[in-house]
Amino acid sequence: CGIVGYLGTHDADDVLLGGLRRLEYRGYDSAGLVTVHNGGFDLRRAVGRVERLKALCDEQPVRGSLGIAHTRWATHGRPSVENAHPHVDAAGKVILVHNGVIENHAAIRDFLKKQGVTFRSETDTEVLAQLVGFFYSQTGDLLESVRRGLLEVRGTFGIAVVSPDAPHTLIAARRGSPLLVGQADGAYFIASDAAAIAGQAVRVTYLNDDEIVRLGPDGMTAGTIDDVPVEKRFEELELAI
Ligand code: GLU
Repeated sequence: CGIVGYLGTHDADDVLLGGLRRLEYRGYDSAGLVTVHNGGFDLRRAVGRVERLKALCDEQPVRGSLGIAHTRWATHGRPSVENAHPHVDAAGKVILVHNGVIENHAAIRDFLKKQGVTFRSETDTEVLAQLVGFFYSQTGDLLESVRRGLLEVRGTFGIAVVSPDAPHTLIAARRGSPLLVGQADGAYFIASDAAAIAGQAVRVTYLNDDEIVRLGPDGMTAGTIDDVPVEKRFEELELAI
């Protein structure tokens, strides 16, 4: 339902929780976030309000200045902690939040089960996380693995992806579900709705269907899911808040 991502120099959890609060008006049943730091990640998920996720993060602090967060409106699998996003692949290398519906989740789940993958949730989203993880185990290249995963899926997605192997990389893509990239001095943001990053991002660019971006210390790389480079233009974010 709602997506927020942050890559910068501040603590990611403040930005992520603030962003999720600004998306609460859209409705949701659970919320979660992950932050990434050298060699590891901190995952927190809760059923119910963003306030409960915040309380969980107060009890068990997270660290890192890279992270992604999600408010879920369940379509596949009941509202529960296990079904809340972010979802992590079996190897703990690919972590993903997703808006939308993966229509061919059953066929992909069957394929991955035959490859020995064990599933931890009932969601269509975990299927995509595990599929990207499957490609990552073969290629070791996160962007390429996300791209290959998205080439296999039918349906709609706005996604944000991180990995403990890449503590300064944030990947995002969309098809049929809105997603934008925001920028401010020394920071990138991802959001499904500009309201989430109002007052934080200074400039924004909206992704088109089938576009994928990688954000990192070297800037932004943009292309299509079938690997054609794309030139993105940032515009000033003007929002009455
Ligand atoms: N289909 C996904 C799920 O049920 C994402 C739902 C959403 O857009 O929040 O987990």
